[in-house]
Amino acid sequence: MYAHPLKRSWPVHAKPHLPSKICPVCERPFSWRKKWAREWESVIYCSERCRRSKYRRVQDSPASQET
Ligand SMILES: [Zn+2]
Repeated sequence: MYAHPLKRSWPVHAKPHLPSKICPVCERPFSWRKKWAREWESVIYCSERCRRSKYRRVQDSPASQET
């Protein structure tokens, strides 16, 4: 009997070495996605939502700074 080499090609605990960036809007890290394969260099925001909200962030932030 042969062992099945394909079964061992993707260890469960192995993390893929994908590049990641931190979204300046939500300040959360996001990883490379296949849809960004051609434009990863220019990707800044984690999602279209953040990309749009960058214009609103200052306005939406509450003005109260009481401590
Ligand atoms: Zn974001």
